[in-house]
Amino acid sequence: MAKAVIIGSGIGGIAASIRLAVKGYDVTVLEANASFGGKMTQFTLPGGYRFDAGPSLFTLPHLVDELFTLAGRNPKDYFNYQRLPVVSEYFWPDGTRLTAHANAQEFAQEVETKLQVPKEKVLAHLKKVARLYHATEATFLHKSLHKLDTYLSTDVLKTLPALPELGLLTTMHAANAKAFTDPRLVQLLDRYATYNGSDPYQAPGTLNLIPHLEFNIGAFYPEGGIYAIAQSLVKLAEELGVTFKYLEPVQEILVEGKRARGVKTAQGTYVADVVVSNMDIMPTYRKLLPTQPAPETTLKQPRSSSALIFYWGISRSFPELDLHNIFFSEDYQKEFAHIFRQKTVSHDPTVYVNITSKYTPEDAPTGHENWFVMVNVPHNEGQDWEGLSTQTRQAVLQKVSKALGVEVESLITAERIWTPLGIEADTSSFGGALYGSSSNNKMAAFLRHPNFTSKIKGLYFVGGSVHPGGGIPLCLLSAKIVGDLAPASSNSVLS
Ligand code: FAD
Repeated sequence: MAKAVIIGSGIGGIAASIRLAVKGYDVTVLEANASFGGKMTQFTLPGGYRFDAGPSLFTLPHLVDELFTLAGRNPKDYFNYQRLPVVSEYFWPDGTRLTAHANAQEFAQEVETKLQVPKEKVLAHLKKVARLYHATEATFLHKSLHKLDTYLSTDVLKTLPALPELGLLTTMHAANAKAFTDPRLVQLLDRYATYNGSDPYQAPGTLNLIPHLEFNIGAFYPEGGIYAIAQSLVKLAEELGVTFKYLEPVQEILVEGKRARGVKTAQGTYVADVVVSNMDIMPTYRKLLPTQPAPETTLKQPRSSSALIFYWGISRSFPELDLHNIFFSEDYQKEFAHIFRQKTVSHDPTVYVNITSKYTPEDAPTGHENWFVMVNVPHNEGQDWEGLSTQTRQAVLQKVSKALGVEVESLITAERIWTPLGIEADTSSFGGALYGSSSNNKMAAFLRHPNFTSKIKGLYFVGGSVHPGGGIPLCLLSAKIVGDLAPASSNSVLS
């Protein structure tokens, strides 16, 4: 039986382990931390509050289901989720509030009522992004962009006619400002750039396809929270015979000639036919492959944004809040200039508040709520994160207290803070970037590292820092591409 070693048990590593096990490999996952999940981990705070530490928004759940089906299991025996009736609650500094209903008709009606934008215009926009998404997803998301086969496939025939409308030559913001004149709706649409850690004033208009996921397909909530995704997939992987070894960081990828032969840890050597790195691509080259030539142009791509997250136990409940809540800044352009040009945090940041106790009441004591409060910030380049955390905490409290008409600070009964430094230390993500490289230029999709390297046979890459990108769905798709690229397991080269 051919052997596969996977470095890291982030969502991409877990999914790759399942795909390779199904393909007949004997799979071992080596994880530096004491448990699986990477950014998709969880923790509790005193007083009975549970938090998902990282991702909070879940889209394209069929990509998780697919892994169970692939293994001949019924997904519902492992993992359940529901479609959210409300995608998000939005608050603007001028006092405007908007409920983004998942139902496109209801959303368009709400936009017409609250922002005075004709609902037909909103519906036409959503229809357009749906059409473009369907024309491009197979080419850009499901396959390697670095294999000739991709461009010879019939999917490209669907993609080509859509290219002129994709907004490759304009920015997201310019495209949204052309489509709509209401600055609040433009801001709402521009925010989707943050779903892969980018700047709407630089990222290509192509990213305007992202709202399709929420409004046309839906946003979902897994029973028990986001961590349930990792938990259920690890259960499946273990049933398929995958071995997880914790507190065992890989120190080196062993290469002989032009072939990966395994990995080295402090405990020993693991010989393997296939090595998959779920570690961020930058430290994979710099730390695990120090003697191999690195793809410098790819590694030089600007990093995505990171985050400052305040996890707060809150001693009352807020009926006007939902699972996902956004409190917008006054000047979005200035906010992004702070993040991506000045590499600091605006004094008036947009604030995202996620409250899982709305759907999982056990996540907080009765009458309380667990607030995950996040602000987009630059990746770590040596900024004073202690000072920026203090400044941002004050700005967040001021903004949210004003919008809700309640002084929030005195309601905080428990607190933890995760900074870009902490994210980097806990997950090895370069600079604590949430999504690997940003998509702040039109070639970004092509400049992400592929899921393989032509220089070292048997070595593959999975996760948010490589193709097709960061975020749960794209990490799952990267595992699918790796599963497709890895040779059938009978081709063992172990001697
Ligand atoms: P990672 O989660 O990066 O994990 C990599 C793993 O590899 C870690 O466990 C690490 O310990 C291990 N590792 C690294 N080096 C070694 C080594 N040498 N040896 C052994 N093990 C090693 N995505 C969404 O879809 N929706 C969201 O709402 C969302 N919000 C986010 C909010 C935050 C605060 C964060 C941090 C991320 C968010 N994301 C979101 C992004 C999403 O979490 C990531 O894209 C995804 O989880 C990354 O998974 P990954 O497979 O790349 O692995």
